Amino acid sequence: MNSVDEHLEQVLGTVRPLQPLPLTLGDAHGCVLAEDIAAGAPMPPFDNSAMDGYAVRAEDVAAAAPEAPVRLSVVGDVRAGSAPTYSVQPGYCLRIMTGAPVPAGAGGIVPVEHTDGAMGQVTIFQPVRPGQHIRRAGEDQPAGAIVLSAGAFLGAAQLGLVAAAGRASVMCRPRPRVVVISTGDELVEVGEPVPPGRVLDSNSHMLTAAAREAGAMPYRVGVIRDDPRLLIETLEDHLIRADVLVTSGGVSAGAYDVVKDVLSKLGTVRFDQVAMQPGMPQGFGVLGPDQTPIFTLPGNPVSALVSFEIFVRPALRKMLGADVLHRPSMSAIVTEPLRSPQGKRSYLRGVVERQPDGRVTARSAGGQGSHHLSPLAVANALLVVPEHVTEVPVGTVLAALLLERRTR
Ligand code: AMP
Ligand code: MG
Repeated sequence: MNSVDEHLEQVLGTVRPLQPLPLTLGDAHGCVLAEDIAAGAPMPPFDNSAMDGYAVRAEDVAAAAPEAPVRLSVVGDVRAGSAPTYSVQPGYCLRIMTGAPVPAGAGGIVPVEHTDGAMGQVTIFQPVRPGQHIRRAGEDQPAGAIVLSAGAFLGAAQLGLVAAAGRASVMCRPRPRVVVISTGDELVEVGEPVPPGRVLDSNSHMLTAAAREAGAMPYRVGVIRDDPRLLIETLEDHLIRADVLVTSGGVSAGAYDVVKDVLSKLGTVRFDQVAMQPGMPQGFGVLGPDQTPIFTLPGNPVSALVSFEIFVRPALRKMLGADVLHRPSMSAIVTEPLRSPQGKRSYLRGVVERQPDGRVTARSAGGQGSHHLSPLAVANALLVVPEHVTEVPVGTVLAALLLERRTR
């Protein structure tokens, strides 16, 4: 029997970050940048107004006050997007809008709120400091500066910066394409009638969503029967579109565990018992000319999703080029007694909560059977019980792998 860490080491030792490709900004969202991005021009590109107001010579309004306003002639209007053609002469000013180029000779911008807002002749009630309300060219970043480095994760703010730097496409590691297949003669596609003795396929929907949540691009094949020829054909058909294959079912010790029977003969996929609960039977290896990684997960839905969390998700994160592969972990104090089998690491489905006094507590999300799907949907954490621990009394501190970004 392998430990969880040994199995994970085998997985992470096999998968590689995907080769970078040029991606448009829309496609690059959620990907990891594989080049440094330089500002194509100064940011901002020219001196521009931070306010709607009047571009003035600072000395002309130096004495302006509410009780002693200054009057200036307004010789024109500078709108955002207009070319910088005007200049400001003594005794004159220009009306200017936010983002419009600051005319030559202007020492500052008087916000419209400090004036009567008129055209022709404007009355100004306050002075401006030299440079006030002018956003200088290159103030954010000078031309050529590296604004984002390879390895950065491209979220909303990063994509905004890349666009401002003038790049419509960037070199990124693409999202891994994950093909998801459910195996089992008993399985029925949801939406179809369910004959006696048959069960609905939940795994392919769950694992497809889990792959998408991990940042990958999933392709759900759906259900195939426990038929060796069909399994091989299906895998071969989908190798072309897969960076990773994920199957569920057919890897235990039963008589019709076809995935294990077929793939163990190929010699490139290993089937191991991993000292964990749920999820003991695990298969992992590579298939086809490109050595495409394949995960054959156990069929019980909870085992399948926990196995995905512990082994597949970190592998997908590595392929994406992410530097953080694992879920964030925090310590939580157990508020009810829990149990765990001797010699196996348990990943109990738990609810982690921050209490008003600041303590973080953990309780069971419900039934801990590997067929109990509803507690899985309630859980916001996997509570990790070490291999040698069998009884977890109230007050024990456990590591909790957080399945969402915040605790409730
Ligand atoms: P297996 O790993 O094929 O022995 O399946 C173990 C258990 O998980 C059985 O009760 C199966 O019916 C169930 N199971 C397998 N695949 C799925 C699936 N895709 N959706 C829901 N239950 C499944
Ligand atoms: Mg089966």
